[in-house]
Amino acid sequence: MTKIAQALTIAGSDSGGGAGIQADLKTFQMRGVFGTSAITAVTAQNTLGVFDIHPIPPATIQAQLKAVAEDFDIRAFKLGMLGSEEIIECVAAALQRYKFGQMVLDPVMVAKGGAPLLQQSAVAALKQHLLPLADIITPNLPEAEALTSIKIIDGRSAEQAARTLQQLGAKTVVIKGGHSNNSQSAVCQDWVFTPEQHFTLVSPRYPTKHTHGTGCTFSACITAELAKGQNTVIAIRLAKQFITAAISQPLNIGHGHGPTNHWA
Ligand code: PLP
Repeated sequence: MTKIAQALTIAGSDSGGGAGIQADLKTFQMRGVFGTSAITAVTAQNTLGVFDIHPIPPATIQAQLKAVAEDFDIRAFKLGMLGSEEIIECVAAALQRYKFGQMVLDPVMVAKGGAPLLQQSAVAALKQHLLPLADIITPNLPEAEALTSIKIIDGRSAEQAARTLQQLGAKTVVIKGGHSNNSQSAVCQDWVFTPEQHFTLVSPRYPTKHTHGTGCTFSACITAELAKGQNTVIAIRLAKQFITAAISQPLNIGHGHGPTNHWA
């Protein structure tokens, strides 16, 4: 019998298949990891936008987590779209009960098209209940700014924001620079702060609008690598390579902001 690493994603469903649970499971598959899921919300969306959001009742989220916990050997998991304070509290309570290994927190707030994926009032709950549990947190620039109230304009302010997130309890912080409005720059830079070291990840900046689901895919790749037993730094570096390749060779799918290419 083949032994395979097992991972879990707790996130929203994207009917367009480019982000959320669908991106996570595709990424797990590409990285050779068996993926399980607990769906927090069903979204009706495609490459053009988000048209409807149906939150899943907390009891059903709790039941999904129980079912996964009782039957699988999950070594790493990620949190994506959570939507509301009620769902954050439900997930946080389940995480006290069940052990899923290392936790990657992607603090999803707003879709690239502007649709809110987390209620404004839930940001405080995310900081209070989930940030202290995160082995790795992967905010983009607007998310890091919303969580810390620090405007990130350079490496110094990125470090201040990362240290603030570490004081709130996250062990390793990856601030993704892809949303930088310095779009003239030829590179895209992310800042990584582990408890022991800090460094930047630099890749070319590709002039493409087909970046739907990049954040989900990046954090899912880190999760997959952790599930296979990679250390934090290697998992993050491998995920940067994976997402850079995925962005550099866009798929010609849909009529709007197309998905990243998981096969690249
Ligand atoms: N939909 C869901 C369910 C998500 O989890 C996310 C990701 O964070 C998005 C949409 C946003 O995708 P993007 O902002 O990359 O278009």
